[in-house]
Amino acid sequence: MKTIGVLSLQGDFQAHCDVVKKVGAIPVPVRTKRDLEGIDGLILPGGESTTMTKLLLSFDLIEPIREMHAKGRGLLGTCAGSILLAENLVESSQFRFGFIPMTVRRNGYGRQIQSFETDLDIPIFSTSFHAVFIRAPKILKCDTGVRILGEYEGNPVFVHYNNLLATTFHPEITEDTRIHDYFLKNCVST
Ligand code: GLN
Repeated sequence: MKTIGVLSLQGDFQAHCDVVKKVGAIPVPVRTKRDLEGIDGLILPGGESTTMTKLLLSFDLIEPIREMHAKGRGLLGTCAGSILLAENLVESSQFRFGFIPMTVRRNGYGRQIQSFETDLDIPIFSTSFHAVFIRAPKILKCDTGVRILGEYEGNPVFVHYNNLLATTFHPEITEDTRIHDYFLKNCVST
């Protein structure tokens, strides 16, 4: 069985742990460097990227996560997690790992009240995916090598780059487990 770490400092980590179980892997809540040992992949959940960054710094997790990535472990970043994975942020100098060559605008769809739900047509899935966007970042541009797996109104919302996956919506809060399943099968090896 694959072991998937879920960064559990802030945000929607519990729901991700539940989905990881549903797709047949073992979830490991990650709060310390030791929790990263032996995991096959890592999920960076939605929440608040600035708060998560402060906690990543104070829990001393930035370098260990970089090392994990350098070892070829897969990562899935959802919503705030996708901001942390992006290389470029528009009008923001806040921290990011920068693992995916794409440009993202935080809160790109507007404020909290502009949060929305929609059925996305994702060509790799045979039926639509109900996606919940909560103060979501907007992906403005993807560079070479980034595969766009889903779009909403012309902007990428689900992307795949090597063994990294990012969604600007929250795949963990519906009953649909296909994105976690895809992550496990295509980005994580034991
Ligand atoms: N707006 C948040 C941020 O900038 C992301 C929102 C979310 O993860 N639902 O970090």
